[in-house]
Amino acid sequence: MNFFRRLFYGRYGGDKFNTFLCAVTIIVYFVFFFTGVKLVLIAAALLYAYVLMRMFSKNIPARQRELHWYMKKRQKVVNLFRGSRARAQDTTHKYFRCRKCGRTLRVPKGKGKINIKCPCGNTITKKT
Ligand SMILES: [Zn+2]
Repeated sequence: MNFFRRLFYGRYGGDKFNTFLCAVTIIVYFVFFFTGVKLVLIAAALLYAYVLMRMFSKNIPARQRELHWYMKKRQKVVNLFRGSRARAQDTTHKYFRCRKCGRTLRVPKGKGKINIKCPCGNTITKKT
């Protein structure tokens, strides 16, 4: 225990980005296992080297910047799927995205061609 404490003293350690990278590394290893392509193995080794570099890094601000970057990208992916099941089950409405502000607009289905006014002021014409 003391050995590990001394090993990680002043070093960055693990975070969510490293956990994600480890998962990706394992997946890449599996891809190598099934395909046998050596380039894939090299990619997995480089990924793992990056994980270790992050873990043992003493440049904590740089690692936190990477984590922040990852969390922002992750949130975008999470938002992409947020409410997608409810949208798929909703048979009485259609959903559009405002090109100006990115907001999701819900309008009733089967009304023909309509003008949809977004709260940001943008108007889009769509067939429902
Ligand atoms: Zn808008």
